[in-house]
Amino acid sequence: MIRPLRGIRRPLSLQTAFTAERRCAACSSAFLPPARDDPAGPDAFCCPACANRLQRRSAGYCPLCGALAPSPRTPVFPCSACLAKAPPWTRTFFHAAYDDLLRDLLLRFKFQGQISLALPLGAILASHPDLSACPADLIIPIPLPAKRLARRGFNQALELARPLARRLQKPLAAHLLLRTRSTAPQPGLSRSERFLNLAQAFVAPSPAAVHNLHILLLDDIMTTGATFAAASTILLAAGARSISIAALGRTPE
Ligand SMILES: [Zn+2]
Ligand SMILES: [Zn+2]
Repeated sequence: MIRPLRGIRRPLSLQTAFTAERRCAACSSAFLPPARDDPAGPDAFCCPACANRLQRRSAGYCPLCGALAPSPRTPVFPCSACLAKAPPWTRTFFHAAYDDLLRDLLLRFKFQGQISLALPLGAILASHPDLSACPADLIIPIPLPAKRLARRGFNQALELARPLARRLQKPLAAHLLLRTRSTAPQPGLSRSERFLNLAQAFVAPSPAAVHNLHILLLDDIMTTGATFAAASTILLAAGARSISIAALGRTPE
């Protein structure tokens, strides 16, 4: 039997370094991350209580449009709308329903100037276990209309895309999808009005740069999917081979 040598101190291991005290990105309380957590998941950025409110939705949604089933335990299965007419993309990745703490954090990030939340929020989305297998050649964030970009000072989708691109080691190409004109804010519009509102709102200025590529389109929130549909249609018309989409939050019906 091998006995541990007394008096010999083990060097500071990666595990020790990783479990140094941190500040919760959501509530600012000090916490010690668990040693074996996903280094990009909620456990790495938030205290146990907040991480518990930011768990990934792993069932109870449509894999094509992300529509949430009433129960989070329903098996992952295409919804009736997608079975009747498939969306222009092949797969949706999202973290969780857009409510509770995730909604609070996104509102603070977008409207209260807490831009530092982009790193934990982007990394939390990147921790989706299937995203690393997504065959994306490029990541493109949904662009903001010029007026909204000027008012906010940053594009939240682009800021979330940065940590996602680093984690997935994929190129980020925000310049390959542009907004052509301003559209009325989407909340309050019916489904058909949203699609109409967004028709012709995007342009892919360099078709050769997306030709035959699989594009991962990214936004902070997915509501009806109208924005993703308009952007996907433009990129496919420009020659992209296929599209996947990713959003941090999926709005409940
Ligand atoms: Zn917390
Ligand atoms: Zn669906």
